[in-house]
Amino acid sequence: MKTYRIATIPGDGIGKEVVPAGQQVLEALARCTQNFEFQFENFDWGADYYRQHGVMMPADGLAALRDKDAILFGSAGDPDVPDHITLWGLRLKICQGFDQYANVRPTRILPGIDAPLKRCTPDDLNWVIVRENSEGEYSGIGGRVHQGHPIEAATDVSILTRAGVERIMRFAFKLAQSRPRKLLTVITKSNAQRHAMVMWDEVALEISKEFPDVKWDKELVDAATARMVNRPATLDTIVATNLHADILSDLAAALAGSLGIAPTGNIDPERRYPSMFEPIHGSAFDIMGKGLANPIGTFWSVVMLLEHLGEFEAAKRVMAAVEAVTADASLHTGDLGGKATTAHVTAAVCALVERTEAAVA
Ligand code: ATP
Repeated sequence: MKTYRIATIPGDGIGKEVVPAGQQVLEALARCTQNFEFQFENFDWGADYYRQHGVMMPADGLAALRDKDAILFGSAGDPDVPDHITLWGLRLKICQGFDQYANVRPTRILPGIDAPLKRCTPDDLNWVIVRENSEGEYSGIGGRVHQGHPIEAATDVSILTRAGVERIMRFAFKLAQSRPRKLLTVITKSNAQRHAMVMWDEVALEISKEFPDVKWDKELVDAATARMVNRPATLDTIVATNLHADILSDLAAALAGSLGIAPTGNIDPERRYPSMFEPIHGSAFDIMGKGLANPIGTFWSVVMLLEHLGEFEAAKRVMAAVEAVTADASLHTGDLGGKATTAHVTAAVCALVERTEAAVA
């Protein structure tokens, strides 16, 4: 029997509710297979840790995660701690420390979910957004001088490297190739950004030659927002820089029905380090501690985690349970217009995961 070592980092706000729920689903899965088991280690890092220790995670934190097979993350964010500290002190430290350069965000309209696009059927909206996760606009390079004075100046420098663009393009083309439509849209802004984005376009063209069976096109990021709303079926796999994909993927999540459903994986495709899976929502302090958080985004993240481990049958089994639960309106949480609690939804998914008699292949 294989043992997978999983780090759980609930973080802040509703992360503390949805990550234990995700762990319960993995435990339910493990109960019905002889093939693998999970060994969990929980890390209490985040804003509470920051209040006690002055840092979001300990200096040797990455070393503690290094030997894990995957990380299940909740959220980082706190009304009393500045966002740049919660973000850079934990999530980005792990993403950058482990060179998780591909951020992958699948979006679909799950059964039973009322999505805002009236003319759109679930078949029209089935996307995976690949976000460059290691450089670009969020490279962290920049500074401030003359702080507080009228002459104050501040910069955030966006850096793209050829190596960084090549690897994310290759990843995106490969992913597009693995999906039935073999269709990739490269998001750009090379009309206005005349240097790095032009290199981005050039590298896309070069890498496309390695994937002659993938159809691809380019779209300006502003035009892409309209295309996502007006012609969703023309998109399948999408690759964009850090900032562009950050914005487009929130739009994608909203178009698919709720922020509470959407998952993401921060992947090191070379598997030198553990990859990290998390719901895309934040800490949602308005509903924390009330048992109202929708755990579906975390469960879908668990599906991605299982796929990353190569446990495809188990992943399918959890996804089928998730879809059966979203199809039942009595199991919708408040963000979907229902009255169900985190505990109801979790119990329903766990029961369905365990119900299938055949052991997980
Ligand atoms: P952060 O600052 O950490 O990014 P936030 O609270 O500003 O977080 P989100 O948590 O991303 O923003 O979400 C905005 C709102 O959407 C929340 O305040 C909450 O009402 C709702 N929401 C987000 N995720 C969920 C969820 N899983 N279940 C129910 N409602 C959610």
